[in-house]
Amino acid sequence: MSNEKKIGFIGLGNMGFPMAKNLLGKGYTVYALDVNKDRENSFAELGGTTGLTTASLVNEVDFVFTSLPTPAIAEEVFLGETGIINSCAKPLTLVDLSTISPELNRKIAEVAEQKSLEYLGAPVSGSVSGAENATLSIMVGGDKATYEATLPYLDVLGSNVFHVGDDPGVGTVVKLINNLMAGFHNQAAAEALTLAERAGVDPDIVYDIVNVSSGQSTIFTRNYKSYISKDEYKKGAFTTALLLKDLKLAKEVSDSLHGKLPLAEKLIAYYDAEIENGHADKDMSASYLMIQDEIKKQLQET
Ligand code: NAD
Repeated sequence: MSNEKKIGFIGLGNMGFPMAKNLLGKGYTVYALDVNKDRENSFAELGGTTGLTTASLVNEVDFVFTSLPTPAIAEEVFLGETGIINSCAKPLTLVDLSTISPELNRKIAEVAEQKSLEYLGAPVSGSVSGAENATLSIMVGGDKATYEATLPYLDVLGSNVFHVGDDPGVGTVVKLINNLMAGFHNQAAAEALTLAERAGVDPDIVYDIVNVSSGQSTIFTRNYKSYISKDEYKKGAFTTALLLKDLKLAKEVSDSLHGKLPLAEKLIAYYDAEIENGHADKDMSASYLMIQDEIKKQLQET
């Protein structure tokens, strides 16, 4: 028998699809929406309810989860004329799992509150595999009681769920700190493996040693094992475009607080210059390919 509460899920992408699937797997009735109708069709094949408009979805469910790619899209989906908040005529809890800016989390929460809707900014970490295996970290900003009411669903999606504070943007601050570090580790892995390749050292040996030494990181292991060693940069991806978005969001937060992120500034400029050479939609580990491209160009010039 399905669970009583109905759940809406908007954004069935690399992350959203497996998360919505896990909710379905726990017996919840899941109403899902994506602008990409192929994603909806695949979800319907699993038993999800699709083919809805935003208005028909939000007025049918008790909770709406969103997993959307960019702040601009999230803003439109929540605050647009035909978006979630304008379409909603009943009590509803909104849980945004996307990585947007803390400021946008706060803006959406404020508009939601004017309509007596609850809103949590709840970005996630742990890659597509974490979404598939329900082992995500979820960092939640927003009202504590709303968080507690939402926890049974969040526990279906992840294994490390944190209430960071009442500010709806504070979970995102932590998420951006995490992804700032992930960005550094990503570039470190690319540069380290490039050096190995140039020096003619078997990258498998470098991997085996670094993996048990001080240079190890989750990103190094992930990038080498799942992508670089296979020369495969697309499967189950956290794209370079998404990483660049998050680095820029982290810098925005830092700038607004008169902080300084010298290394991040350089990385943003580097990715901005390189990303369009066919790397935007590849996994972020394609930063390794960006360096290979640079080396080829350098060799051609000499
Ligand atoms: P994605 O691009 O694979 O998925 C986004 C989905 O949203 C797509 O299916 C797209 O069709 C849909 N969409 C776009 N506009 C829409 C609209 N107006 N209405 C409904 N659906 C719409 O992105 P993703 O990798 O799943 O990431 C989603 C969010 O999660 C991002 O904010 C990202 O930063 C964050 N995130 C991603 C990962 C990862 O490993 N991919 C990890 C942690 C967090």
